[in-house]
Amino acid sequence: MPVVCSSCEKKNAVLKRPKTGFSLCKDCFFWAFEEEVHQTISSARLFTAGETVGIGASGGKDSTVLAHVMKVLNERYGYGLDLMLLSVDEGITGYRDDSLETVKRNQQQYDLPLKIVSYQELYGWTMDAIVKQVGLKNNCTFCGVFRRQALDRAAMMLKVDKICTGHNADDVAETVLMNFLRGDIARLRRCTAITTGSEGAIPRCKPLKYAYEKEIVLYAYFKKLDYFSTECVYSPNAYRGHARAFLKDLESIRPSSIVDIIHSGENLSVKEDVKMPVQGICVRCGYISSQKLCKACVLLEGLNRGLPKLGIGKHHKLHHKLLAQEPLTEKEEKKLKAVDF
Ligand code: SF4
Ligand code: ZN
Repeated sequence: MPVVCSSCEKKNAVLKRPKTGFSLCKDCFFWAFEEEVHQTISSARLFTAGETVGIGASGGKDSTVLAHVMKVLNERYGYGLDLMLLSVDEGITGYRDDSLETVKRNQQQYDLPLKIVSYQELYGWTMDAIVKQVGLKNNCTFCGVFRRQALDRAAMMLKVDKICTGHNADDVAETVLMNFLRGDIARLRRCTAITTGSEGAIPRCKPLKYAYEKEIVLYAYFKKLDYFSTECVYSPNAYRGHARAFLKDLESIRPSSIVDIIHSGENLSVKEDVKMPVQGICVRCGYISSQKLCKACVLLEGLNRGLPKLGIGKHHKLHHKLLAQEPLTEKEEKKLKAVDF
């Protein structure tokens, strides 16, 4: 027997909301999902009328749903925002080239301007080339650091006031768990913030912070959104994978676990005497950095010198040598060259 939608009590329900367990019809689900994102945006005052907002677009489900919902809400509630899509081409054959085709179609479908920046043009390296040099263990460290800067640079080129990204509740909960497991207190404090980067960087926010991944998939599916769902060919991130699997297990027993973990992260207080990094500026490229050289510049130096381990782990002591262009000792070179990392 068909179940009636518990919201409108007229149409038949087509789904059970993963977040609340309510049976809803398609339209009531769309409405509930969009309203919750609107709630997130308005209660945290993420945007101000007149701002230009760049949506980080990868062609995946999260950013596609984000672009769609931002456009809907901007019109429905008169946010007064100028929206555009920002994409990063990491240079990953068989993955990013295809997903960028999706972004280009989204640009047409949503009628939004699109800017694509590539690792090749910004750094002189594609991820394909980086993986050839560093292997498949730490490739995501390079990719993550480079992407962050690349998105900022695209945003600066377009004079964007704010960037929003498609990080969802599952991503945030996963990151809380990972930072907790690693004892990374500085990141733990930052990772639940809905807006980050007020000191010098272009502010970033996460309008989907409380949206469950399962609901994003349902929304994209029922709206028939055009998105790309293949995993990156270089995705080894084993640690995150374990955190993800653990979270999914918890969710299957108690769906509210995801949001509970986010709330725990938000409410953790950090002892006063925990030393937090002080933000400055990279002396080489001008990007925000808590060290003399930003992480991207150190990683890049390592790649260009054939010393890929330079930016992995703590080698801050070598920064002055790099800046002074002093040669490294044989022992230092050997340590940084090893490909077993
Ligand atoms: Fe980059 Fe790793 Fe993500 Fe692939 S999985 S896009 S290499 S961060
Ligand atoms: Zn730099």
